[in-house]
This record gives sequence, structure tokens and C-alpha cells, in this order.
Amino acid sequence: MGGNPRRSELLEALGLTPPPPHCPKCGAAMAFGALGTQAFVGGASWYRERSAFAVGGEPIVQRPLGGMVWIDGHRCPQCRVLLLDY
Ligand SMILES: [Zn+2]
Repeated sequence: MGGNPRRSELLEALGLTPPPPHCPKCGAAMAFGALGTQAFVGGASWYRERSAFAVGGEPIVQRPLGGMVWIDGHRCPQCRVLLLDY
């Protein structure tokens, strides 16, 4: 018995393309992409609140590549919601 090829193909397909997350506002499937922003000095940090001099943040992307910070994630363009993985 060599197993069921259709089942293994399905598992492989599921492993390669996991289902996208759903938008927390409208519930629609979100589209994969990357947030890109210029960062010539330092990387990207997370702040619990906005700071006039950008102090007290937690660095989440240390070294920009070619002056750009890239953060993979998903987006719902209808609700203008980003879900970022860093
Ligand atoms: Zn949405």
C-alpha cells in the first residue's frame, strides 16, 4: 500500500499555501504582501504611543535592506487593515 496520492497532494498543497487570515473587521480573506518603507537610519520599531522624538520604541526590524524596511503581512484594502508578521 503506497498511500493515497490525492491525499498527499492535498496535504502538500495545504502546506505550501496555508489559508490566508481573515480580516478582523469584515471577515474577508486577506491578501498577502509586504509593507515597505524607507529607513536610511535604523530599522522599524513598535511604539505603544507616538513619540515626538521616536524614543522608547521596541525594534522589530533591525537592519534595512538597501535603505528599505520590508515586513511581510496581509492586507484588507476595503477596511484598510494590515496584519504584519515580523
Ligand atoms: Zn476587511
